[in-house]
Amino acid sequence: MSDEEGIFREAIPCYIFGCKWPKTGNRVIIPYEISRYFTKREKRTIEKALRDIRFGGRTPCIHFVRKTRWDRDYLFFLSSNSCQSHIGYFGGGQIIDLDRNGCVRKDVVQHEVLHALGFHHEQVRYDRNHYVTIKYENIQPGKERNFQIANTNNLITPYDYDSVMHYDA
Ligand SMILES: [Zn+2]
Repeated sequence: MSDEEGIFREAIPCYIFGCKWPKTGNRVIIPYEISRYFTKREKRTIEKALRDIRFGGRTPCIHFVRKTRWDRDYLFFLSSNSCQSHIGYFGGGQIIDLDRNGCVRKDVVQHEVLHALGFHHEQVRYDRNHYVTIKYENIQPGKERNFQIANTNNLITPYDYDSVMHYDA
């Protein structure tokens, strides 16, 4: 998966900087805007990916809505030459870079959006050594920190090899 994190915050637990998206009642409403440089078809792919991120089953607690001019904090999908996202809430127009060559796919869009919601890669969970073996000799030089264990909150979920947040073998 082509994916690089621009700014790393793995080691910093969210509660220090408040990197959770704010709640409205018991829901989190996340406005988004999609760059006009994406085609209609690409926009549909992005919106479908957002719709299919469902937490809470029939009563989803996270809602993605189109940005209005009153929204100050929102996700902005930028047509870019990389695929990356900050980890957690930053405030303002928070950019998700999507390369039109390869990243405008449901799984990649969901991967980057989940970073923006505060999720790390599955293989950096604090308990990952029970589930995967990292072959450091195979890591491209300079990419080592993509494999550093993070102080994650695993939300009582089992390790998920099939997660969109998991690098492939
Ligand atoms: Zn990633």
